Amino acid sequence: MTTILVVNSGSSSAKYQLVNATNGERFASGLVERIGESVGRIRHETDEVLSELELAVPDHAAGFAAMLDAFARAGTPVSGLGIAAVGHRVVQGGSEFVEPTLITDAVAERILTLGELAPLHNPAHYQAIVAARVAFPDVPHVAVFDTAFHQTMPPEAYTYAIDTAVAGEHGIRRYGFHGISHLVVSRRAAAFLGKPVSSLKQVVLHLGNGASACAIDGGISVDTSMGLTPLEGLVMGTRSGDLDPGLMLHLLRAGYDTDQLDQLLNKRSGLMGLAGSNDFRDLQRAAGSGDAASQLAFGVYVHAIRRYLGAYLVELGGADVIVFTAGVGENSPALRAAVCAELDWFGVRIDASRNAAVGGGPRRISTDNSRVDVLVVPTDEEAEIARQTWQLVSA
Ligand code: ADP
Repeated sequence: MTTILVVNSGSSSAKYQLVNATNGERFASGLVERIGESVGRIRHETDEVLSELELAVPDHAAGFAAMLDAFARAGTPVSGLGIAAVGHRVVQGGSEFVEPTLITDAVAERILTLGELAPLHNPAHYQAIVAARVAFPDVPHVAVFDTAFHQTMPPEAYTYAIDTAVAGEHGIRRYGFHGISHLVVSRRAAAFLGKPVSSLKQVVLHLGNGASACAIDGGISVDTSMGLTPLEGLVMGTRSGDLDPGLMLHLLRAGYDTDQLDQLLNKRSGLMGLAGSNDFRDLQRAAGSGDAASQLAFGVYVHAIRRYLGAYLVELGGADVIVFTAGVGENSPALRAAVCAELDWFGVRIDASRNAAVGGGPRRISTDNSRVDVLVVPTDEEAEIARQTWQLVSA
């Protein structure tokens, strides 16, 4: 019995998947949206069934009830599915959660208090955890943290140069996110190359709606671009990435309040702020038809990635592998070509036809004589959460 229910809850949505932990195979997946609004929605999908339903989902408990109903309506009630455990993705694990952790009352409470560092995410995770433990009282629940993989960063990489007393009082340091993805992608890249992960220096570029870069030395995260929050680093769909912190002071003095700044930097910046859409496909189409704002946004996006790539090549003392993953990284040959342009001096050579090919699994896009392997490796955070959950509960 290796069937794991994976739950990935956000502030107003919850994704779920039923996954076979041993091979990553998916039996069902779904998305509950607009939790807390007057009309919510659930989409439930298996190989045979696709159902969509609008209904009121006032909170995460109701979201869970909607999910249970969706399984029943699809003719596969959860009671008959042999679910062995529930794996919860948790965005912020602070400094103490460095591994997948069995959820007890105390662990759940700690996840809630860590909401100070992730106000949009951890309180929602907590609600979902409580609801899930009520719905599935007889199976273990495991928290898998997005921050855990980066807990290996050395102090000089995770410390911000501010007053240490202030940093200590408020838990201010770089935590890094997307850790589940960086871990699984770096392992898959090594497996694809047929080399032990311990022998490789990798730069992984996770480029989705959120985006982050990670320097991985021998399988261990040594630096990453997201920081205290998932706002730092690369340019993203709606998030600014790196800024001069003085910009915030400037806007505060100009009359902005905290919520307005939050909205501006998290929801109305990045590609959205520069070109009016956070969808990279739209951006590419508009740039291709001559839209100057979209062309600039593409350039700014690439520039930020190359800055981090350059930094990590120095930090790692060179790299064996550069890996592209997530929606943009897996699907945009133009973006990959722009990031890798003119890196011949460093031993990076892209094969144009390999880069243009559309493929499902891990693949090489560098030439056979490229000193650095450049790969596209699909991420699968849910399969990794299922694997880690199963590893803990079957130990
Ligand atoms: P999330 O962070 O929400 O999981 P994804 O990893 O799914 O995001 O990435 C979403 C991004 O990937 C969007 O900007 C989308 O436009 C982009 N994307 C998806 N398919 C393509 C494609 N074929 N070409 C370019 N960009 C794509």
